[in-house]
Amino acid sequence: MKHLSIQGESVPALGLGTYRLTGREAVKTIAKAIELGYRHLDTAQFYHNEAEVGEGVRVSGLPREDFFITTKVWPDNLHASRFLPSVEESLRLLKMERVDLLLIHWPHATLPLEHYLEQLMQAREKGYARFVGVSNFNIGQLERSLEFGVPVFTNQVEFHPLLDQRKLLSWMQERRIALTAYCPLGQGQAVRHPRVVELARRYQKTPAQIILRWMMQLDGVMAIPKSADPQRLAENLAVFDFELAQADMDRLSALQAENRRMVPAFAGSRWD
Ligand code: NDP
Repeated sequence: MKHLSIQGESVPALGLGTYRLTGREAVKTIAKAIELGYRHLDTAQFYHNEAEVGEGVRVSGLPREDFFITTKVWPDNLHASRFLPSVEESLRLLKMERVDLLLIHWPHATLPLEHYLEQLMQAREKGYARFVGVSNFNIGQLERSLEFGVPVFTNQVEFHPLLDQRKLLSWMQERRIALTAYCPLGQGQAVRHPRVVELARRYQKTPAQIILRWMMQLDGVMAIPKSADPQRLAENLAVFDFELAQADMDRLSALQAENRRMVPAFAGSRWD
């Protein structure tokens, strides 16, 4: 496993996405993922599975400190009257004293950024989260967050070879802000791209492994692929026994010119 060193913390660069995993399937999948070696788990208030993520961790029998757990505050909860109570509810569901990372899930459509960045900082001061960050923020919003004094740990955004995030990534790399890639497999579309399939054949790996390996070789990038299938969970983790040649890294990076976004902007957010 590759680890990223961020703000003094060592974080597994490959984590588990949990969107659309709920109920018994979620607990089973998370427990299986932990057995396979996943230690970085991504949940959110919106996924309605914080309780299952917490339970998956507990049934593993491993100490809480072995895990890096992220949750996210949904836009409905960004107002000062709801922010901290919503985080307290997340912790109650997780049955944990704190999360490792707390993110703003989407910038709010009308509330000023600073309004909820202040709440995010308060959550950290109260010890609800060891680190704080954002998700779906553009460069302007990141700049305002830094100016406000938020030590942005990561910006979690859609990132895969078919979407052009080069400008955002290099801006973040210059400031040592990690990029967490959501939808890293392009929700099934990137793994079917002929160039990815051709590289998979040549390296005798799967298309998903080619994409995840590409991410692991990029500076400052983490990825949180989701799978409910035990074999694919294992496959997505097995990307540390080979290396992509620089020419192939470049060939994958060049695909970003296609610039296809799989996740539409959340309607209650601002995408400017
Ligand atoms: P992914 O790109 O991770 O794709 C998941 C899909 O790919 C599932 O249908 C899964 O099916 C399939 N899959 C998984 N592994 C493989 C494989 N090895 N080969 C082929 N297909 C595979 O998309 P997600 O949208 O789930 O994104 C990942 C995570 O990112 C989410 O779970 C969530 O935690 C986070 N996220 C965050 C957002 C944000 O706004 N911050 C927005 C969207 C996602 P199967 O389960 O059957 O294996």
